[in-house]
Amino acid sequence: MSSAKEMYINQMGIDEKVYDFSEEILSGLKERFEAIDKTAECNQMKVIAAMQKNKVAEMHLSGTTGYGYNDDGRDTLEQVYADIFHTEAALVRPQIMCGTHALNIALSANLRPGDELLSPVGKPYDTMDEIIGIRPSKGSLAEYGVSYRQVDLLENGDFDYDGIRAAINDRTKLVTIQRSKGYASRPTLSVKKIGELISFIKGIKPEVICMVDNCYGEFVELTEPSDVGADMVVGSLIKNPGGGLAPCGGYIAGTKECVEQAAFRLSSPGLGKEVGATLGVNQSFYQGLFLSPTVVAGALKGAIFAANAYEKLGYRVIPDGKESRHDIIQAVELRTPEALIAFCKGIQSAAPVDSFVTPEPWAMPGYDSDVIMAAGAFVQGSSIELSADGPLREPYSAYFQGGLTWYHAKYGIMMSM
Ligand SMILES: *Cc1c(COP(=O)(O)O)cnc(C)c1O
Repeated sequence: MSSAKEMYINQMGIDEKVYDFSEEILSGLKERFEAIDKTAECNQMKVIAAMQKNKVAEMHLSGTTGYGYNDDGRDTLEQVYADIFHTEAALVRPQIMCGTHALNIALSANLRPGDELLSPVGKPYDTMDEIIGIRPSKGSLAEYGVSYRQVDLLENGDFDYDGIRAAINDRTKLVTIQRSKGYASRPTLSVKKIGELISFIKGIKPEVICMVDNCYGEFVELTEPSDVGADMVVGSLIKNPGGGLAPCGGYIAGTKECVEQAAFRLSSPGLGKEVGATLGVNQSFYQGLFLSPTVVAGALKGAIFAANAYEKLGYRVIPDGKESRHDIIQAVELRTPEALIAFCKGIQSAAPVDSFVTPEPWAMPGYDSDVIMAAGAFVQGSSIELSADGPLREPYSAYFQGGLTWYHAKYGIMMSM
């Protein structure tokens, strides 16, 4: 026995059959893993180049208190983000509490009463329902007189171009495009497809703001939606771009106008980007961003390994084992609540933190059915760390993502099996 195999079997709770099966699956994935490493290498250079161009210095790693005036570390980091996303500006703040908050800021900042929001890619992520007012909520866009229209994807996953053309009207102010599938069974959109969609929409109404919910997509490809026409890209720092080190936060990168609107909404009219103490987070924001391309690569390897392993075991997996990747999420349709819960327990038991606890389904705020989540993370709820979750509803899909290192992702998947 090789020593790794001995460790897995004797110390880590892996069955020999699971180990051998996993090695067999992995032997077929070498070329794909090499391609992932190549993308990570290019994205690593993109991050380093942006840091060098902006002369990131040791003094930027410390933070401010109080109002946070003249926080050079914060302002420089925002310029680094803007350069990575090739946008005019960016807002990268610990005061942005999560991805949902970032999206809410981006939308509510750039929409006014009487405007209409359009989603041309079907129903957005669950937590957007209450922001938009699809499910009534205090303070929703609907309450402020912003209407909403949605055009679903066609049966085959393509854009419904006729439906989109018909939905765009005088009031259409902002189009929200979700890159990752979230808790839906549709394919994740490639940056290329997002670009085609944006070109089509701008061809009909050039002044419309195109926003992309970029959650889980950052650094998966060589380009980002902002390279293909998006006016705003929005995401969470406890997902990809925080690299596992950011303890909280979110970002909005985009045109100067969109980002300024967002800054005024986040802080206050008149204050905008000038305020916002970073306390002690600057270092972890920079360092996490620096690590993000390799962390994302490890997470992608985990997703592809899980897809191929579970596909071989007879489960439907989305994306399938062969498909190209545009985010780090892997869905496995486990078909029964028991199997979904067991899968999450396996992931939990592989964690470095809280490996001994048992995940249970519960009614999480913002979601319309019970959700089970497995995470033994250094940062609460961080889903760039190895985690699995799924709503307790048909077809009982586990959405699996993350892994700060590929070896941890591999171990988690073996434990889930
Ligand atoms: C995670 C996610 C969100 C919301 O982010 P939170 O940080 O959980 O609030 C929104 N959209 C998509 C596609 C996501 O994956």
